[in-house]
Amino acid sequence: MKEKQASSEISRREAMKLLTAGSAAGIIGLFGAPAARAATQTKPSYAKGMPPVKIKSVKAIATAPEGSNLVLVKVDTTEPGLYGLGCATFTQRAVAVIAAIDSYLNDFCAGKDVDNIEDMWQSAFVSSYWRNGPVLNNALSGLDMALWDIKGKRAGMPVYQLLGGKCRIAVDCYAHASGPSPEALADRVQQFMDQGFRHVRIQQGGYGGVGTVKQQPDFKQAGFGREQDQFMNQGTYLRNVPVMFDVVRKRCGEEVELLHDIHERVEPIDAINLIKQLEQYHPYFIEDPFSPENMKWFRHLRTHTTVPIAMGELFNNYNEFRDYMVEQLFDYIRIHISQIGGITPAMKIARLGEWFNIKTAWHGPGDVSPVGHAANAHIDLAVWNFGIQESHFWNEKAQAVFPGCQTYNNGYMYINEAPGLGVDINEKEAAKYPIGTRSNWTVRKSDGTIIRP
Ligand code: MG
Repeated sequence: MKEKQASSEISRREAMKLLTAGSAAGIIGLFGAPAARAATQTKPSYAKGMPPVKIKSVKAIATAPEGSNLVLVKVDTTEPGLYGLGCATFTQRAVAVIAAIDSYLNDFCAGKDVDNIEDMWQSAFVSSYWRNGPVLNNALSGLDMALWDIKGKRAGMPVYQLLGGKCRIAVDCYAHASGPSPEALADRVQQFMDQGFRHVRIQQGGYGGVGTVKQQPDFKQAGFGREQDQFMNQGTYLRNVPVMFDVVRKRCGEEVELLHDIHERVEPIDAINLIKQLEQYHPYFIEDPFSPENMKWFRHLRTHTTVPIAMGELFNNYNEFRDYMVEQLFDYIRIHISQIGGITPAMKIARLGEWFNIKTAWHGPGDVSPVGHAANAHIDLAVWNFGIQESHFWNEKAQAVFPGCQTYNNGYMYINEAPGLGVDINEKEAAKYPIGTRSNWTVRKSDGTIIRP
């Protein structure tokens, strides 16, 4: 009897609430047929009168307007005209990601609610049982970003608003300067400084100085490997980098922040010695001193130098960051946002960084699509512990494929204020630039030994 009274009390209170709100749904709930009442009860309160939206289809779109393979996920919904876009770019194995999206993710998602991003992420993540690989994480990232895009569009807000709103005016970026000699490189740094950049990454030639050494390696003379395999002389690289810093500092002054990426291409103990020598040039950060197989070397590095370190673009699982961040073994989080699985896991790692004073420095080269760059930027704007953002300047073809691309001014990246992620895709334009299956990441020592990135 008591129970019955309590339940009728609740209904009365709910009825009053609905009547005061004056919503059509409320009135139907009170006076409508049982079926209408049931429909109202299942409608989530957070939807505030918006009809439920379901996923109709999930498909991959591939394009290469600048030569690098880009893979996008388009999530179409039951609401006419409403769709979301996400970046799923694993440029080196793009075709495998497309199969994961079109053949598995579409089937997994069709008919599901677009609202529950966390639940969708968690369930899709384990839906293959075996997980964490770059192929499946990239597919998952495309879905995750597309759902954030949809949520922003439904709310009428840019995604950064949903993440907490702006912490800063715009996204401070670093530019890439490279040159065949330290002097040519210094000229390039100066050009970026003249454009307003306060941070410049300096590399002589490709990663590890690839392409700058004219010596013909023994493996090529012996006909070992493929014609396009690259050669790196680790000793030359290790001697050149301090000279490069010295020349750029002398020519460009002390104020510009200098960054450098070792790209894991030397022995760990050599990387430590190199970073110690660079201390006098106070780099903003040195990136990727060790490959993920050599993570324990960070403890040795920290006892020998105070140069700030950036790490993480090769990590697959967000758990890989945890222990090294808790131990404060690096200072900047390098996340390739599609590799880690999208905005949802990237936000968790960014927040973890706040507790340990570790800042973000998301990976942002030309093999992150403009949609991925937008996702980076929305997080950059919203988290307190933002550090710096890697920039990429899209050519005209890419801008035609992706209306709403980010822009740069005075070294800052700006996004448009459109609801969602703010970047669209012109599928007709995208189809003009088919993707390929070749990637050239084979780098060898003179005797032919593979150098791990
Ligand atoms: Mg890197």
